[in-house]
Amino acid sequence: MKILGIETTCDETAAAVVALDEGERGLILANEVLSQIAEHAAYGGVVPEIAARAHVEVLDRLIARALERAGTDLASLDGIAVAAGPGLIGGVLVGLVTAKTLALVTRKPLLAVNHLEAHALTPRLTDGLAFPYLLLLASGGHTQLVAVKGVGDYVRLGTTIDDAIGEAFDKVAKLLGLAYPGGPEVERLAEGGDPERFALPRPMLGRREADFSLSGLKTALRIEAERLAPLASRDVADLCASFQAAVVDVVVDRVRVALRGFGAVAGHPTALVAAGGVAANGAIRRALAAQAGEVGLSFVAPPLPLCGDNGAMIAWAGLERLRLGLVDDLTAPARARWPFAKAS
Ligand code: ATP
Ligand code: MG
Ligand code: FE
Repeated sequence: MKILGIETTCDETAAAVVALDEGERGLILANEVLSQIAEHAAYGGVVPEIAARAHVEVLDRLIARALERAGTDLASLDGIAVAAGPGLIGGVLVGLVTAKTLALVTRKPLLAVNHLEAHALTPRLTDGLAFPYLLLLASGGHTQLVAVKGVGDYVRLGTTIDDAIGEAFDKVAKLLGLAYPGGPEVERLAEGGDPERFALPRPMLGRREADFSLSGLKTALRIEAERLAPLASRDVADLCASFQAAVVDVVVDRVRVALRGFGAVAGHPTALVAAGGVAANGAIRRALAAQAGEVGLSFVAPPLPLCGDNGAMIAWAGLERLRLGLVDDLTAPARARWPFAKAS
């Protein structure tokens, strides 16, 4: 089984080919990603119209390159998978129309994949993980704790009531005058900073529901930054370190609550998993690995290139769905919003 995966929901244009090896494990044959960061950097964030146009300009060549690198062609594929949402609708349409066209002319099955579901299933591609597992899905647009019980069977244990974690990193970076996207930059500077210099709040700590709130933390950091202005590089590093330490404390506490509630909805978890762009953060990864170890669970997070948006995760989610006969037709809609987990 060999699937083409197309991703255009945000600011990465991506195409990949994923197959199954003899042991039924996923095998990435090609994973091409073109980031548009340079095109959006001047605006300090993703500009939807620019993103959509950039996807149009490169997607066909990127697909051709992925097929070539994989040593395959359209005729040899078993299906065409595409992220049909959630995301910026112009970009989603570019990917979806392209995938529908390919499916139509090749008469291959179309797999309209939920982008968040693809993040959620990535550890099954990278580590062959079995269901059920507890997932922290944290990216620029989403922050959720989810019991992943099976393909298409997801129960949300917690979510953010305001900013996503990645969004908070990006906003903090912006107010400190750092480059976009902010997450990696804040992490890099935090390494040389003092995490205890600023006593920032840990919102939601100790609450019984596994929800997040990050806007108060961001505001507290802004107040400190304004009080100190103009900021020396030492201040910026200490602010980054203090912010990241607060986020780590909040994440660990929220995961603890979700682990407590997991059994009632899904039984015993096989692992604690982090996915989405924020899962690239080393401090968060280390804290979660230690926490999982304490309760006898393994910790799984995709390798860095598979944490952010990519085509391999879309191809894999499509492969998982095709195996179960969950195929879509040409009426599959593009969705700006598309919740993937049901409430607990
Ligand atoms: P979504 O998947 O929710 O639609 P997205 O496309 O923005 O949104 P990803 O590409 O998965 O999501 O992740 C990007 C986000 O991850 C950005 O907010 C970025 O700042 C954050 N991020 C990336 N690396 C790090 C890091 N090392 N530390 C913290 N945050 C990070
Ligand atoms: Mg992105
Ligand atoms: Fe994403």
